[in-house]
Amino acid sequence: MKNIIIFGAPGSGKGTYSDKIVAKYGMGHISTGDVLRGEIKNGTELGKIAKGYIDNGQLIPDELMIDILAKTYDAEPAGKGVIFDGFPRTIAQAEALKKMLAERGHDMGVMIELNVDEETLMARLLNRAIEQGRADDNEETIKKRFEVYRTQTAPLAEWFEKEGMRNTIDWQKNNSMDAMLSAIYKVIDTANA
Ligand code: ATP
Ligand code: MG
Repeated sequence: MKNIIIFGAPGSGKGTYSDKIVAKYGMGHISTGDVLRGEIKNGTELGKIAKGYIDNGQLIPDELMIDILAKTYDAEPAGKGVIFDGFPRTIAQAEALKKMLAERGHDMGVMIELNVDEETLMARLLNRAIEQGRADDNEETIKKRFEVYRTQTAPLAEWFEKEGMRNTIDWQKNNSMDAMLSAIYKVIDTANA
């Protein structure tokens, strides 16, 4: 299986679709957000540093994040392919990922961009706040995360375009989770054909 980079704004469904993809194709799954929340829960040094950024809606510094990602990747079983969920979020992270994989003789694979309007995103995140109680799912922090996404992460889509990896799937066009999933599976099956 080729690696997959699932890309999109907070609340675009990266984690939700990743779980479905893992169940269908049996790949590895690296959610950097989950890794960081695990560190916070365990009260590690890294968790203490990460908490300050996450609660503020800001990104963890690239150098630190790249280091965490490489360690997490190397702990995954080889050969099954991995979904990168929430990484890369900056151009520097994307360049580092490309280099890290190339050093291991691996390929970045396919990028899937989930394109969802901010009104829908906000509604989903506020709903998730009630269901899961994540500290950063409050209106003020969500707005900061959108701003960070617009300025630091969204420009990366062009970077993937230049790499010839970009596949955009539009919520407005598909408008149901099943339709989104079919479109996602089609991209994956085509890439692996
Ligand atoms: P969703 O999970 O709904 O897509 P999200 O993308 O905001 O929402 P996570 O991916 O779980 O949520 O990330 C939560 C927070 O963890 C981010 O706001 C950021 O502070 C930190 N974080 C996660 N991944 C990275 C990364 N690659 N670089 C820097 N910070 C990160
Ligand atoms: Mg997530």
